[in-house]
Amino acid sequence: MVHMSGVQKWFGDLHVLQDIEFDVAAGEVVVVIGPSGSGKSTLCRAINRLEPINEGEIAIDGVPLPEEGKALAKLRAEVGMVFQSFNLFSHKTVLENVTLGPIKVLGKSKADADKRAIELLERVGVASQAGKLPAQLSGGQQQRVAIARALAMDPKVMLFDEPTSALDPEMIKEVLDTMVDLAKFGMTMVVVTHEMGFARTAADRVVFMADGRIVEQNTPDEFFTNPQSDRAQDFLGKIL
Ligand code: ATP
Ligand code: MG
Repeated sequence: MVHMSGVQKWFGDLHVLQDIEFDVAAGEVVVVIGPSGSGKSTLCRAINRLEPINEGEIAIDGVPLPEEGKALAKLRAEVGMVFQSFNLFSHKTVLENVTLGPIKVLGKSKADADKRAIELLERVGVASQAGKLPAQLSGGQQQRVAIARALAMDPKVMLFDEPTSALDPEMIKEVLDTMVDLAKFGMTMVVVTHEMGFARTAADRVVFMADGRIVEQNTPDEFFTNPQSDRAQDFLGKIL
């Protein structure tokens, strides 16, 4: 579903993505972990060309990522993205936040977009908030709206970049539960997170990055009990 090969990315002199070979199968849940500055966000953002790469190939569901224009917009719509900050439109209601993309980008009628949005808001447990503005919701509720908004575009893959790091502890679980639920429904997911509990229970594979490279990857069981590289052992020693 996601294919990256020979990917190189520099910020000036800094080689932030080095020889990246990364594939995600349909329905697979991949958790990306690693020290700060190792390139996790850049990897995520490269997948839908929010961050252009210098070399290499990226394809979504077999279609090479276009450089720009309508073709890129179309492919981007197939990749849902949820960030640490919720990025909701503050002057639009929860419902409008979820229907905007489907109406503007997918050309759905308002009635169809509303119907689907309500279904998705129900699924993430915030349908009762549909008429409110984002600021009237808790952080956990806002992040679940952001997930519903991404799902409303019928993405083929969902990318999450530290979706719970800005949340108070009591709200982290409700967002992680929503993500676990998505994973159970068979969504293809790439998740950058420090929540090792989520990685252990929901991930099919853990990818460990350091200094712009994928240093090792394995099943969560293997990775956490038997990390191979010094970098991974060192990292796990600090966080577990
Ligand atoms: P964190 O865990 O702190 O979120 P990360 O693994 O997501 O870190 P990235 O944000 O991908 O790391 O950054 C990788 C490297 O690229 C870092 O050294 C960072 O300072 C640098 N970097 C990121 N964005 C830019 C930018 N727009 N311009 C220059 N350097 C950047
Ligand atoms: Mg990051």
